[in-house]
Formats: sequence, C-alpha cells, structure tokens
Amino acid sequence: MAVPFRCTDCGRCCVSLGRSISIERRVTGRHYDCREGVTNEAFRAEVSEEHRAAVPSSAGCPFLIVSSTGISACACYATRPRLCREYRCASMRVFAPDGTECGHVGGRRSLLTDDAALEALWDPGDGEEGAAWRERIEEVLVRAGYGVEWYD
Ligand code: SF4
Ligand code: SF4
Repeated sequence: MAVPFRCTDCGRCCVSLGRSISIERRVTGRHYDCREGVTNEAFRAEVSEEHRAAVPSSAGCPFLIVSSTGISACACYATRPRLCREYRCASMRVFAPDGTECGHVGGRRSLLTDDAALEALWDPGDGEEGAAWRERIEEVLVRAGYGVEWYD
C-alpha cells in the first residue's frame, strides 16, 4: 500500500534543484526576495535566526546549510518555494533487514542502489501494467528479506 512521501532531509536535491534559486534582493537581515528559476516563482525567504550568518551559502542553494557532520538543513524551510515543497526524489524505498535504506526508485522504475544482491533481483517489468508490476516486485523483494515502502 502506498503511503505519503517521506523526505529524510538528506539535502541531496537541494544541491541540484537549489541551483535554480537565486536571491534578487536582501530586504532585511533575515528576509530575501528570491526567484526559483524552473517555475519562475518569486518568493520571500525568511531565514531562521540560527542560520542568519550562513546565508548566502555556497552549497548549491543559497539557503542550504551543511554542517561539519554532513547534516543538511534549509535555512528558510517554512518559506521555501513550491518546487522544494512538492519535490519527490523517490517513488519507492527499499530497506535492508536491519531497517537501513539500501535503495530507492527514482523516476518510474529505475533502481538506485549500491547493494549488488538487490540490483540482481531488480526487474523493471518493461511493458508490465503498473499495479501488477508493483505487486510482483514487492513480493520478490520481501521474499528476499527486504522491506519496501511505496509513495503516493
Ligand atoms: S526530497 Fe529526497 S533528495 Fe531531497 S532532501 Fe528529501 S530525501 Fe533528500
Ligand atoms: S530553499 Fe531550502 S529546500 Fe529549497 S533547495 Fe534551498 S535549501 Fe533546499
């Protein structure tokens, strides 16, 4: 059964998608008039107090904050543009028996993984109807010990 998409805040999409975001004008110490270039949306970003000194960042998006431990955060999360709010990097995630994520499906049926055993099991079911393929591939993966999460 599909569940709502769950973003893990890894920040990977912000490095690429974030390049479409530019600051047009600084309005106050924490407010910036910006444009998101893919949809041409104009938005006003409000930066959180804790990240004020780190904007503009050079990490891809001017609001992407990457800590020394590699954790990512959006400095204007509550006011981020629509592209960011609606972006889904995966239609499915696959989990190893210990619960760690070991692969995900980007696009319709392209598996991205470093797990050779999982890759060997993968079958994009070319030409197979969507619901039937989902059911079949989930059965194959679960039988092999993987966990599966599908997104709406
Ligand atoms: S949408 Fe995906 S790539 Fe982007 S931050 Fe969330 S989990 Fe990471
Ligand atoms: S505005 Fe925030 S969510 Fe959007 S790309 Fe930049 S850092 Fe990521």
